[in-house]
Amino acid sequence: MPDFRFTPDEEAFRDEVAGFLRAELPADSQRSVYEEVSDVDASKAFTDKLARRGWLAPAWPTEYGGLGLSHMKQMIYNEAMAYHRAPLGQTWCGVGLVGPTLMVYGSEEQKQEHLGAILRNEVWWAQGFSEPNSGSDLASLQTRAVIDGDDFVVNGSKIWTSGAQYAQKVILLTRTDPEAPKHKGISFLLADIDSPGFRVQPLVDMSGHAPFNQMFFEDVRIPRRNMVGEMNRGWYMAATTLDFERSGVDRAASLRRSLEEVVAHLHGHRVHGRPALEDWQTRATLTQLKIEIDVARWIAYQVASLQAQGKIPNYEASMSKLFASEVGQRFARALMEIYDLQAQLRPEDPRATLGGLPPMFYMTTVPSTIAAGSSEIQRNIIATRGLGLPRI
Ligand SMILES: Cc1cc2nc3c(=O)[nH]c(=O)nc-3n(C[C@H](O)[C@H](O)[C@H](O)COP(=O)(O)OP(=O)(O)OC[C@H]3O[C@@H](n4cnc5c(N)ncnc54)[C@H](O)[C@@H]3O)c2cc1C
Repeated sequence: MPDFRFTPDEEAFRDEVAGFLRAELPADSQRSVYEEVSDVDASKAFTDKLARRGWLAPAWPTEYGGLGLSHMKQMIYNEAMAYHRAPLGQTWCGVGLVGPTLMVYGSEEQKQEHLGAILRNEVWWAQGFSEPNSGSDLASLQTRAVIDGDDFVVNGSKIWTSGAQYAQKVILLTRTDPEAPKHKGISFLLADIDSPGFRVQPLVDMSGHAPFNQMFFEDVRIPRRNMVGEMNRGWYMAATTLDFERSGVDRAASLRRSLEEVVAHLHGHRVHGRPALEDWQTRATLTQLKIEIDVARWIAYQVASLQAQGKIPNYEASMSKLFASEVGQRFARALMEIYDLQAQLRPEDPRATLGGLPPMFYMTTVPSTIAAGSSEIQRNIIATRGLGLPRI
């Protein structure tokens, strides 16, 4: 059996983070599970406090302005933030994707310009990879970038860009060599959202929120110095960015919190005229969820321990993302069954159960198995790279 105990120093850090969250996040201001980053002011105020403590990206190396904490402490921190539903706004993209990618592939000038701004919470980023006709087959993307003097001129569109309406900058995958094989003609650019010709259109999903956007580019000029790494090698950088995106203990931590809330609520609830927690089917469902959420947590811990050894988890990150997002869906379906007709009452209805969590959770767990690569794509990655199965 692996031993997942933390060191006394790590436990002390966990207590420090929990103490901070208790002081800074009054219980009634904690966001419920379905809320988006739409309360930008509250998210900005909270993340500014984290930035002042150096906590926005605690594991970033000191040479880039971080605290240089261990990956394990970073994971403890991430777990606490997700469990307490801390309003982190759009910081996830700069901290989790852009910064780590620039540390591997960026020029010294790019690191100087962008890493400090992320740590000081001055700039929020978004991820412009997917296009209307390129999602799973991302390498087929068509947004063109053509060199003109000292600039690239960009035309095309990106879609499903989470939080772009709150961001100032975006990472963009663009086609710079249409003649080359599709993986070999892509470049990775850093763009300002307020550039002339750049338009962001929020998209409302079935829950009524607008978590993502479509972005349109008409002759948008991006300075050539904003290209990351080598021209036409952007695909390989994007693969690293996606490995970072699929890792993370936050999904499991947030599910654990929700399960605790549901169990606490069911103590006073009746199903088919009997106390809910005496109903064998409800008990079996909750027990199964407890097992699966713990497994999701251990897989995320394994990914963090690989990162702590300096490795970039690949199929392991896919396992973590796939399993946790699918447990989330099973959890949401279970709530619809347990709460039956009551599960349909949305948050705006004063009679809603758990503040309207069941229907919102049900709707928002659908996209979670698509975002950052669908479950089928994660299974393909695990099959080929984890099991060594042939590509088909
Ligand atoms: C909530 C949310 C947030 C998102 N945020 C961002 C973001 O910030 N930035 C960004 O760039 N993108 C973002 N995306 C886009 C996301 O990455 C894509 O939706 C995803 O990669 C799937 O692409 P697609 O929607 O084009 O579906 P398609 O690729 O058209 O897939 C349709 C179906 O076919 C299946 N399929 C496709 N190819 C295969 C295959 N080879 N084998 C087996 N099955 C296959 C898929 O699994 C899926 O079920 C977000 C998506 C969601 C839902």
